[in-house]
Amino acid sequence: MRRGFLLALEGVDGSGKSTQARLLAVSLLQQGREVVLTQEPGSGPLGQKLRRYLQGADRHLAPEEELDLFLADRREHVEQVIRPALAAGQIVITDRYYYSSVAYQGALGLDPTWILEENEAFAPRPDLVFLLVLPVAQALARLQRPRQLSEFPLYLEEVAAIYHNLQGSHIQRVDASASPQALHAKLLARTLEALGEFGEERQG
Ligand code: ADP
Ligand code: MG
Repeated sequence: MRRGFLLALEGVDGSGKSTQARLLAVSLLQQGREVVLTQEPGSGPLGQKLRRYLQGADRHLAPEEELDLFLADRREHVEQVIRPALAAGQIVITDRYYYSSVAYQGALGLDPTWILEENEAFAPRPDLVFLLVLPVAQALARLQRPRQLSEFPLYLEEVAAIYHNLQGSHIQRVDASASPQALHAKLLARTLEALGEFGEERQG
């Protein structure tokens, strides 16, 4: 039986996902809850290969090949990290998940609906997704490092447009322009609310 809770953070580069993922993990741990903080690309060999590729000088893979790499990395992440933690009843917070493939490989011209189906065939659907919404220019201005090839404005506008069209009652859009602490307070409150409802469903 699946007992844990799966929370994903999504949004364009610089929208604040990693910051919020960490803050949420800390707050939930302080409440004595069991939390696993994880990320995509994953920390295994495939994830490291993907990170090197994304930081590289050219994006030479075809969109389909790129997607295949992300899917392979995600399969590993799901089997080795996410499913075991959920089976153990833990709260899994993942910094990016399959909606990133939908948006980023969709923005390369692949069909977002098809990408979503490919992922939902093997990856558990998150109980809650925070989609951090911030204008691309503002998000990029926050990044204090050299831009990766995947971080150019026109491409990210397309990514944001696909994120914008995602549907599902588990997807909560959040204005990410607030300060980290103000945003955190909002996300924590919403997470606790969702956890409460989740617990009631399990009992009822
Ligand atoms: P992401 O993981 O979505 O790329 P990060 O959490 O790494 O975003 O944040 C990108 C940069 O913006 C970091 O330097 C971070 O300190 C800063 N930052 C994060 N959240 C906010 C915020 N709410 N307001 C201003 N700056 C932020
Ligand atoms: Mg990040």
